[in-house]
Amino acid sequence: MGPVRKAQLAAVGVTTVGDLLLHLPTGYQDRRRVTAVEDLPPEGGTFLLEGHLVGVRGRRARRRGLHIVEGSLEDATGSLSVVWFNQRWFAHQLDENLRVLLYGQVGTSRRGGLQIVNPEVMQPRGENEHVGGLVPLYSALGPISGRAIRPIIHSALSSLEVLEDPLPEYLRTEGGLLGLAEALRVVHEPPANSSSKAVSEVEQKRSPAHLRLAFDELLAFSCGLVLRRERLQKSRGVACRVDDGLRRRAADMLDFSLTGAQRRVLKDIVEDLSAGSPMARLVQGDVGSGKTVVAALAMLIAIENGVQAALMAPTELLAAQHLTTLTELFSTALWKPRLLTGTLTAAEKKDVLSGLATGRLPLVVGTHALVQDGVDFANLGLVVIDEQHRFGTAQRQRLVSKGRQPHVLVMTATPIPRSLALTMYGDLDLSVIDELPPGRRPVRTEIRDGSSRTRVYEFVRQEVAQGGRAFVVFPLIEVNDAFDARALESHVDELKRALPGVGVGVLHGRLESGLQEEVYRRFRSGELQVLAATTVIEVGIDVPEASVMVIESAERFGLSQLHQLRGRVGRGDRPSWCVLVVGEDAGEMSLQRLEVFAKTADGFAIAEADLAMRGPGELTGLRQWGHLHFRFADLLAHHDIVEQTRKMARDISAGGCMEDVMRGLSRYHPFARDLMVT
Ligand code: ADP
Ligand code: MG
Repeated sequence: MGPVRKAQLAAVGVTTVGDLLLHLPTGYQDRRRVTAVEDLPPEGGTFLLEGHLVGVRGRRARRRGLHIVEGSLEDATGSLSVVWFNQRWFAHQLDENLRVLLYGQVGTSRRGGLQIVNPEVMQPRGENEHVGGLVPLYSALGPISGRAIRPIIHSALSSLEVLEDPLPEYLRTEGGLLGLAEALRVVHEPPANSSSKAVSEVEQKRSPAHLRLAFDELLAFSCGLVLRRERLQKSRGVACRVDDGLRRRAADMLDFSLTGAQRRVLKDIVEDLSAGSPMARLVQGDVGSGKTVVAALAMLIAIENGVQAALMAPTELLAAQHLTTLTELFSTALWKPRLLTGTLTAAEKKDVLSGLATGRLPLVVGTHALVQDGVDFANLGLVVIDEQHRFGTAQRQRLVSKGRQPHVLVMTATPIPRSLALTMYGDLDLSVIDELPPGRRPVRTEIRDGSSRTRVYEFVRQEVAQGGRAFVVFPLIEVNDAFDARALESHVDELKRALPGVGVGVLHGRLESGLQEEVYRRFRSGELQVLAATTVIEVGIDVPEASVMVIESAERFGLSQLHQLRGRVGRGDRPSWCVLVVGEDAGEMSLQRLEVFAKTADGFAIAEADLAMRGPGELTGLRQWGHLHFRFADLLAHHDIVEQTRKMARDISAGGCMEDVMRGLSRYHPFARDLMVT
């Protein structure tokens, strides 16, 4: 390989033969059969043809800048015109009557006959091994096209002979795994007799090579989690004492008694806080299940034990709302919780920062402003993170590093299936609040189409007249050509006209955050009764009077997202409604999904249904949830391996083999490499 190619590859992180071999094909072209020209079907398709090229010449098209090379291919049965666009150099390379294989798209030309466009040209069979079988397709590496990568990777395959398997044999046996060299060879150079099953396995990332690489990656990841856990358990945190006096003060803070589930989770937390090592716990619970209340009690315990507590929320709106809740809960304390966000005045900010640095301020609520440089704590002992999926682990760690081994409590309302939770939050212990506070009325969910909109708005008007409040959620702020759905800005006037005398506020993420808070405050106080919004209201908004949630173009949302939105109503004692207004061209599938949603109140069941219906190939839902970017592992396609490697990592550690295994894996896995460094 020349220096230019080398530099191009290095620029995309490919510096070794191993790196090249880990660039897996995305699929294959089936070139096992040559088609005769007379057998080409009139509708065209992708074909492999063999014959002589005749009359090849280049010309400049009338359109400026476009070069065309034309000719025809003749085989024993007929002839077909061939066209290449913008590949001028071809004309000089293709001798008259050259015998070739052409592979490409056959379609109808402008003159009406069949033609093959921009085909790949290869020497006839026999002279070049990787022609004629299943030909791997690669994505480009930097400026090097997939086609150009193929021979480079092909020549790298000979190095597989000297590849030592990085995993010890007993683990390969236990995992039922193919050797790494064999797995890579099969996927880059599939045997000519490969079945269509083998081809689809590559496309679904379940080929032997994919499974092997995913396994190694997830094993490295799981070992890393085990190591981190062990390190944490060895370190010392603040051991909190919880005596009867504190229990009484906790009970006094609330004007209701905890649900059984809250009590159970609180017990887990108290045990963690009083043990010598720092807590690392995830509390998962549906919207409105009372996570915030439990977190407030944990903060009380920490503060009474002389350390500071910080709560980080993903938006200013949520942070402000938490502040209100906590101010009420701690109203009898001698101090007041304070807010730290990006929009404080300089004087306010200075005051909060000095309070934290001196230890005068025991409780702060904020956004990611909390993790910035210049925010120092005298004695940060408890970090609470709300709606963690909005933060990266890195941000969590930055807040944690502002204390000396503080306890960490993460709260999430995103009901993710267990295998995903284990991975995304694999270094946390899990507690689940699986019970709603008493007296909650289930939200009735109805599906309507656009023709009922007038009646839906009339229903909103009546609810408001009787003291209720409503949300109308749109998937978009403004009209977008690429996305057929109702947009907030173009329909808010229609909404206002339909609701004369009703205060309608507008809330979306592009409003300046001070304004967002202002609108929200007016809605909360009842000055505005209807909020036309985007999904900014998806998390945390807590307005007990809100009783109607109208969702426009509902088919545009994932079920889990709809569930979050629906959780914004039914928080008080009014009977509540969620109305899904579907667009005209919502498909049958979308309607079925929505019907499942309308019948189910359980967030976990909805998340599982969402996964099942979107299928393991569909990753967008996961991207929303996950902040983990694996190179080979796909948390949906490989969820069985997630569980398997997790158990194996614990065994490896118990058997004292962690060092060995990690050293092997770190020879080629970035994950393992990073872990070895830290
Ligand atoms: P989450 O954070 O899980 O969404 P919150 O802690 O904000 O839930 O609680 C939602 C609402 O329910 C709040 O108004 C809260 O005061 C109330 N609540 C919480 N726990 C209970 C309980 N055990 N009994 C009655 N009301 C409760
Ligand atoms: Mg909450």
